[in-house]
Amino acid sequence: MSERIKEKLEILADAAKYDVSCSSSGSTRKNKEKGLGNTGAGICHTYTEDGRCVSLLKILLTNHCIFDCAYCVSRRSNDIKRAAFTVQEVVDLTMNFYRRNYIEGLFLSSGIFKDADYTMERLVLIAKKLRQEHNFNGYIHLKTIPAASPELIHEAGMYADRLSINLEIPTDAGLKLLAPEKKREDMIKPMVYLKDQLVKTSEEKKLFRSTPHFAPAGQSTQLIIGASGESDKQIITAAQYFYKKFQMKRVYYSGYVPISYDSRLPSIGTDVPTARENRLYQTDWLMRFYGFQAEEIVSDQHPLLDLDIDPKLSWALRHMDRFPIDINKADYQFILRVPGIGVSSAKKIVAARKFGPLNLDSLQKIGVAINRAKYFIVCKGFMQIYADKRADIIKSYILSSSKSKYLGAVNQQLQLF
Ligand code: SF4
Repeated sequence: MSERIKEKLEILADAAKYDVSCSSSGSTRKNKEKGLGNTGAGICHTYTEDGRCVSLLKILLTNHCIFDCAYCVSRRSNDIKRAAFTVQEVVDLTMNFYRRNYIEGLFLSSGIFKDADYTMERLVLIAKKLRQEHNFNGYIHLKTIPAASPELIHEAGMYADRLSINLEIPTDAGLKLLAPEKKREDMIKPMVYLKDQLVKTSEEKKLFRSTPHFAPAGQSTQLIIGASGESDKQIITAAQYFYKKFQMKRVYYSGYVPISYDSRLPSIGTDVPTARENRLYQTDWLMRFYGFQAEEIVSDQHPLLDLDIDPKLSWALRHMDRFPIDINKADYQFILRVPGIGVSSAKKIVAARKFGPLNLDSLQKIGVAINRAKYFIVCKGFMQIYADKRADIIKSYILSSSKSKYLGAVNQQLQLF
C-alpha cells in the first residue's frame, strides 16, 4: 500500500469513527457464483466492547464537505487535514482487506464534495464495482447523502445490504441551531423513498422469487445524544416515530464527543454521555422486543431516563400497582415486564409451566435474575413477606444486591450486544 493511501486511510478512517450506525445484522446475502464473501454466520456480529462494529472497513470517501454542521469533525470550517479516496482506491482497499481476512464488509460514508448527487454517484459506483466487477458478496453498508436523487438511492439499494441516512440531531430546533444549512426534509425524503421501495420489493418477492434484492438489511439512522440539549423523552419519541413511520431496522445513538469550541455545543472536556447512550439502547431494546411504547418509558413527569437503574426496572418501580404477578398464571406480555426476566426466560417460563407450577428454584434454573424478579412476582411456595414495600426501598435493595452492574453503568458503557 502506498504511503499516500496509508495517509488517506488514517484520515478517513479516523473521521468515520464518529458514526456508530454500522451494524451489519439483518442481511442474508449468500455467496453465489463462486464469488467472494458472504454475510452469513460469523461475519456480521463482531463488536467492540462498547457496541461498535469492527468487522467492516469503515471509512469516509472524503472528509471534504460543503456544509458546516457544528457537531461534525468534517465541517468545512474545521481546520483539519483533508483527504479523498478515488472510487478505484476504495474498491481496491476493500478487496485487499477482504482477501487478507481483515474485514468482512464495507461501511462507507462521506462528506459532501460538491453536491449530494455528485457524492452519491461515487458511493454507488464503488458498491457497483465491488458487486459487478469483483463479484463481492460481503456486506456493504452505504450512507445515503441527504437530498440525493431517488434514482441514485434506488441504484444504491440494488448493491448495498443496508442504507442509512443519519438524522444526527433529534429535533428540528436542534438541527436549526447546529446545522442551519441542512434541511430535515432532505433527510426525510430519501427515508420515505427507501421505505416504499423496501415494502414494494418485499411484496414483489412474495409473487416472484427472482425479484432483485433491494437493501435486504433495510435502513437505519443515527441520533447524536447530548449535543443539542434534547431530553430523553424527545429522543425516544423521535426514535419510535422513525421506527413506525419508516420501518427502520435500527436507530443508533451516539454520545456526542466534544470536538469544538463552538458556544452552541458542550465545551471540550465535557464527558461523553456513554451511560445515557447505553440506557437509550436498553430503551430501544424494550420497544423492539418487549412491547413497550415510548410513552410508557418517558413522560412529561419523567422526561429523563434514570442512569443508576435500567429503564425496565425504572418502569416497574413506577408501576408497583401492577405487581406482583403470578408467574404461573400471567400472560407472556406481563411476564416480559418483570425486571430480571428476559425474552428467552419469559418464553421458557410459559413453556415450562405447562408441565407443572414453577417455584423460585425452577425460575433460577431457567435463567431468571431472582434478586430482581422476586420483588415483582409470586410463584409456587413464594410470596413477598412485605409485599407493600415502597419502590425506593426495593430500588435500594436491588442496587445493593447487584452493585457492579448498575452502579458501574453510570460511569461506563455496558456491553450492548
Ligand atoms: S453534511 Fe455531513 S459530513 Fe458535512 S458537515 Fe454536515 S454532518 Fe458533517
